[in-house]
Amino acid sequence: MVSPRADKLTTKIEDLRNSLGEKTSRKLEFDKCNRLVQRLHTLSSECKTCYRYFIDLEKHITELIAKSDQFTKADFKQHSQKLESISSHLLKEHKLVSKDYYLSIYMSLGLTIGLIFGLLFDNLALGLPIGLGIGVAIGAGLDADVKKKGKII
Ligand SMILES: [Zn+2]
Repeated sequence: MVSPRADKLTTKIEDLRNSLGEKTSRKLEFDKCNRLVQRLHTLSSECKTCYRYFIDLEKHITELIAKSDQFTKADFKQHSQKLESISSHLLKEHKLVSKDYYLSIYMSLGLTIGLIFGLLFDNLALGLPIGLGIGVAIGAGLDADVKKKGKII
């Protein structure tokens, strides 16, 4: 969905990214920011909280631009807290998942199962890679599935 309002905010974010150094930009997670802007905007017609977050983010970005040459530690902290609370709302209320969510879960699950079987059959060198391999296969499959359904934040 193309919206002037979301586009305008994305343009602002990109301008800010260009005016800041690469290191600062990475710290402010602008890629994530842009993805959240799109999500919030799409959902704001059906969810009041998303709408409020969108307005809040708009205001926040404007403030960042205003003081872009003199960020303090508190600014970075406030920024990442904002992104964090938006993400958790999207994860909880809209059943979205973060990137590689299932991969990380199933990888550690696979390792654990691999460890158990490795110990059981006294062959960790075999158990661990098999467990990990199965975990990665399942996790990557599930991630690909949610990606296809457009459920990744
Ligand atoms: Zn929402």
